[in-house]
Amino acid sequence: MINIVLFGKPGAGKGTQAEFLKEKYNLTHLSTGDIFRYNMKNNTALGLEAKVYIDRGDLVPDSITIGMLQDEVDRNPHSAGFLFDGFPRTLTQADALDQFLASKGQGITATIALEADDEILVKRLLERGKTSGRVDDQDEEKIRNRYQEYNEKTAPLMDYYKNQDKFYAVNGIGTIAEITERLSNVIENL
Ligand code: AMP
Repeated sequence: MINIVLFGKPGAGKGTQAEFLKEKYNLTHLSTGDIFRYNMKNNTALGLEAKVYIDRGDLVPDSITIGMLQDEVDRNPHSAGFLFDGFPRTLTQADALDQFLASKGQGITATIALEADDEILVKRLLERGKTSGRVDDQDEEKIRNRYQEYNEKTAPLMDYYKNQDKFYAVNGIGTIAEITERLSNVIENL
């Protein structure tokens, strides 16, 4: 069983790559952003609670996010492994995930970061916002706030996983196929 965390700033291509990797390695793809958006679209209590934060480009509080993620893992008891996309994003989430997986006799196999320059990513997100309908992709100030959240709360996770010898990084600039290849090289050498 392999459990991979796809790591990277908003717009780095985590979702795009996850679509390929989940097929290639038979992994269950869990994107907390997608789960939140599904809940917002369906006006669930969770969706309404999360919307305020998401529309501002703030992280949703750990108290909401961790339980939601754990429920999704529990919904897939026969999974051959998980591809976590957009989770964890805080040290508290990373700790909770480690403990949660350990309680099932599992753990994170590797964390792989897609690296790209901020300015390229901001342009990419603004472009995506024209068609994605996502409020948080349409306003440069909100996008910059998402990067600030990333730098403050998510970037420290790199050291967290480096200390566990589980951190890998690949260049996130190139064609989709080139980047899938880089990620596959890491996964196949684990
Ligand atoms: P994403 O689609 O991964 O860019 O996520 C979109 C938004 O959902 C983020 O800007 C956050 O507001 C929220 N979100 C997604 N994943 C998390 C997480 N692990 N912790 C807190 N907020 C999250």
